[in-house]
Amino acid sequence: MNHTSPRIRVFQAFKELHGHSPEHLVCAPGRVNLIGEHTDYNDGYVLPLALDRAIWIALSSLSEPEVRLHSLDFDQEASVFLDQPLMKEEGWKEYLKGMIEISNASGLELFGWKGVMAGDVPIGAGLSSSAAMELALGRAFGVVGNWKWNPTQMARISQRAENEWVGMNCGIMDQMVSASGRKGHAMFLDCQSLEATDVPVPDAVRVVILDTNTRRGLVDSAYNERRSQCESAARYFGVTVLRDVSMEQLNQSEAMLDPLEFRRARHVITENCRVLDCVKALRSGNLDRVGKLMKESHISLRDDFEVSSEALDLIAECAYKAPGCYGARMTGAGFGGCAVALVDVSCIEEFVEQVLKDYAETSERNGLLYVCSPSDGASVFSVENC
Ligand code: ADP
Ligand code: MG
Repeated sequence: MNHTSPRIRVFQAFKELHGHSPEHLVCAPGRVNLIGEHTDYNDGYVLPLALDRAIWIALSSLSEPEVRLHSLDFDQEASVFLDQPLMKEEGWKEYLKGMIEISNASGLELFGWKGVMAGDVPIGAGLSSSAAMELALGRAFGVVGNWKWNPTQMARISQRAENEWVGMNCGIMDQMVSASGRKGHAMFLDCQSLEATDVPVPDAVRVVILDTNTRRGLVDSAYNERRSQCESAARYFGVTVLRDVSMEQLNQSEAMLDPLEFRRARHVITENCRVLDCVKALRSGNLDRVGKLMKESHISLRDDFEVSSEALDLIAECAYKAPGCYGARMTGAGFGGCAVALVDVSCIEEFVEQVLKDYAETSERNGLLYVCSPSDGASVFSVENC
């Protein structure tokens, strides 16, 4: 990945390509989830935060109904006409077509623009570069069309674009936090009502992303399988989502439920409780409790939901042993990708050094660590400040 900030890269590349400055700069961040994994599609609770890594687009309006978008990261150009039927293909351009298709279907008025896009959200690492791209595109269409920005509406449109056009059956969490995360805060989100509450992340800690440098294989089929196991368990209780089943109900029905579905449901129901608990603990500054809940979440994902991997277990173990670590857990869909740790700010350098060393020795792989600050969701910037 190029180390120059993507904000500067897109601005300069736009000027070189078009011979003038862009009219607008927009961006939308990737995300990491502190706790509440595989709960979003069960209409449960999650606690993600928007990263200080984002996808940026520099753009100017066009009078024709066409989007001409150059991707610096893929070194390719997309040209899509807004008044012609769209064809499904493969690759990064599908996110653009999906956003056009669903925004149109939602009654939003689309106008043409030309732009240059680049990002520093690692791609395919479980930090939701896809949601970042969708929301950056939403912001681009919004600024050109003079839309009143409605983050929840745009999150829903982005999720539908990913579900219905790209074919990835993700929940709403990634898009909600990329649309409306807040600097210095995590977002406590109820995925049923979409009510979002900002929860301050104490200054005494840093959120550290631990990339195992392994990528998930077969994740889509395993993800869909987990979803249907949850739906099937919910059906047993006469409801559509596990959000509406209590631990007491689940325990009473253990003998009647398929043992695998029982464990899947136990993860989801206990994980929802952990999110509620974690929000309270963060608010009261009880960081030991937050860390303990993160560890319990990892164990539940590993043993009951079975979506962890050897590399994820190993990097979480390395984090637990390192100085200043309150807790760590796998994050994202699983089977590879990243874990997340909460670390005391006074130990951050020793923590990073030790985890990298320990993980390299035990796994024979080089991990990547990102110390991140919770950031704002999708934004529009004035070009004068660039
Ligand atoms: P994740 O969301 O975990 O990063 P996904 O597989 O859901 O992984 O989304 C990654 C896809 O999103 C990429 O293959 C690409 O099509 C698109 N994408 C992400 N970042 C960029 C980027 N900087 N430029 C162009 N397309 C991107
Ligand atoms: Mg994604």
